[in-house]
Amino acid sequence: MPRRKSPSATVRHDGGLCAVFVNSGNARRKSISTYGELLAWGQRHGVLGDADAERLARAAEARPADAEAVERQTRETRALLERILQALVERRTPAADDMKAFNQALGAATANRRMVPAESGWRWGWGDRGGDDLDRVLWHVLMSAAEVLTTRYHRKVLVCAAEGCGLFLVDRLPGRPRKWCRRCGIRARSKKRYHSSVKPARNRRRAAQRRRVAEDYQRRVEAKRAEEEEEDVQDEASSKGKNRNVF
Ligand SMILES: [Zn+2]
Repeated sequence: MPRRKSPSATVRHDGGLCAVFVNSGNARRKSISTYGELLAWGQRHGVLGDADAERLARAAEARPADAEAVERQTRETRALLERILQALVERRTPAADDMKAFNQALGAATANRRMVPAESGWRWGWGDRGGDDLDRVLWHVLMSAAEVLTTRYHRKVLVCAAEGCGLFLVDRLPGRPRKWCRRCGIRARSKKRYHSSVKPARNRRRAAQRRRVAEDYQRRVEAKRAEEEEEDVQDEASSKGKNRNVF
């Protein structure tokens, strides 16, 4: 299989990316506050190749004010997408102002879409804007949100049902709708397993232990009683013998 040089050119926006991006503002997740963290996030989620990340890091060092502007844009995009996703979770239309801001940001991002050579013919990719593409990671995030809004996935946005979690999900799996994020799902399933098998097994073990203690006690009581009865019989026998001696 040929090594993929730049995932940024080929990554598939399947809707999950914008939710993962919004979740970076969740207290349970690693936050994105610096430009370096945005690049690391992009690499971790397959939207930036190593070469792109290095190139952008050098460009950000050379233009710190622009990098700062992208940090601000990152925070604003996250807040905007959170409001839009929340509206979808609640099955209502996102606020008109939010959609206006989203369309502006999306327009700027999609202006960078290009036809790039593929193995046979051409495919959609991204231009590099001659190095002026510090906000490149956000292009992918915005495209991902656009795909959620324009496909059946706009009805599949949910917030994890576990108390205190609050992570957004786009349920892309067929079958039963998801309720939890991956981590809470694992926790809920292991808790259920515990209550349906481990706990009853432990209760059975404890009941058996209690039974054993009671039975041992009963055995000891009966043995003692038998011993005492034996002693009584012997005492009776010896007192009879004494009496015989008397008469
Ligand atoms: Zn969760």
